[in-house]
Amino acid sequence: MEELTSKDARFKQRRFLSYGHQLIDDSDIEAVVKVLKSDMITQGPCVGEFEQNLSSYCRANYAVVFSSGTAAFHAAYFVANIKKGDEIITSPITFLSTANAALFLSARPVFADIEEDTGNINPGFIKKAITKKTKAIVPVHYAGHPVHLERISELVQEHNLLVIEDACHALGAEYKNEKVGSCRYSDMTVFSFHPVKSITTGEGGAVLTNNKEYYKKLIMFRQHGMTKNKADFKEFSSGDWYHEMQILGYNYRLTDIQCALGISQLKKLDEFIQRRREIVEIYKDAFKENEFFDLLVEKNYARSSWHLYPIRLKDRFKDKKREIFTKLREEGLGVQVHYIPVYWQPYYRQLGYEKGICPKAEDFYRKDISIPLYPSMDNEDVAYVIEKIFEVFQEA
Ligand SMILES: *Cc1c(COP(=O)(O)O)cnc(C)c1O
Repeated sequence: MEELTSKDARFKQRRFLSYGHQLIDDSDIEAVVKVLKSDMITQGPCVGEFEQNLSSYCRANYAVVFSSGTAAFHAAYFVANIKKGDEIITSPITFLSTANAALFLSARPVFADIEEDTGNINPGFIKKAITKKTKAIVPVHYAGHPVHLERISELVQEHNLLVIEDACHALGAEYKNEKVGSCRYSDMTVFSFHPVKSITTGEGGAVLTNNKEYYKKLIMFRQHGMTKNKADFKEFSSGDWYHEMQILGYNYRLTDIQCALGISQLKKLDEFIQRRREIVEIYKDAFKENEFFDLLVEKNYARSSWHLYPIRLKDRFKDKKREIFTKLREEGLGVQVHYIPVYWQPYYRQLGYEKGICPKAEDFYRKDISIPLYPSMDNEDVAYVIEKIFEVFQEA
């Protein structure tokens, strides 16, 4: 009885430990307030500064920020000239927008199966999925673990395809000692600044590239397809008011309020990743060789940003996932599943995609649960997660 009460008290004290969470401090708040008190709350000096800081952090030539990662994908595919009749190859273990953005442009996403120890797309399956219609490969750095970019770049050179990295999980990660986003092996890299990602601007995203033509088009696409840059005008400038719409763009801008938050957050990115990696070390140690689930591995070419910490249930627990998931939630662990294979969604099924096309991804989905991992977790939170996980699995 006494034990129950103290356990209860402990639970009440403890906040809900979500699978991911932002870390906002006073310096972030001050940076945002400063913009709110200034003359320009959107499209002022912070936008360019955030872009500059992002591109220098990743060592790419250009960064263009957008109102979300999804908008950034739409823009990247647009400037890559992905259109009706084209195919892009991506992983089914991703968030919807990687594939949806191809549908925005009437192109067709093709799904290639994964490697189960990282959850990343398997280059061998990409090769099998390439057709005459393939325009781009869109590898997802799942959970922050970079894909083997060199192998993918070898593949595309044979077929003359583009590579657009879905690095929404991987800001701050490294591939062969270089930051993801350098675009050394790709044409563009897409990031997201949703609150659960490496850094946040509330909502937000970016495309990085080393290609100047893409850069100019990305800027235009973000603001109605319009340019105010004289050198780019197709027609004679009739005066200083003159601006030209050359393509059909959107309003996908990120505000100065958000960019101020981004600038402030980016300064702490390396610390955030460091803390994520410390927590992962504690998890790895606690969970090594356990009888209930497997862990993802980190390959020798990768330094993961550990956006997620997915555990993969052993075969004999696969059918108990629902029960285990519910119990973990009851214990205050905000576990989540990343992801339902995209083509299982009713919208995709209605487009003709069938279950069974990527068996490894489907098996991964059946086993996967993401447990809490974010930089503001203290060691007591981490110990609590470990204790509850063992409790729940032992009862299962
Ligand atoms: C978050 C995310 C996106 C989309 O980003 P938003 O900013 O939420 O629009 C795309 N792909 C992956 C893998 C993501 O995790």
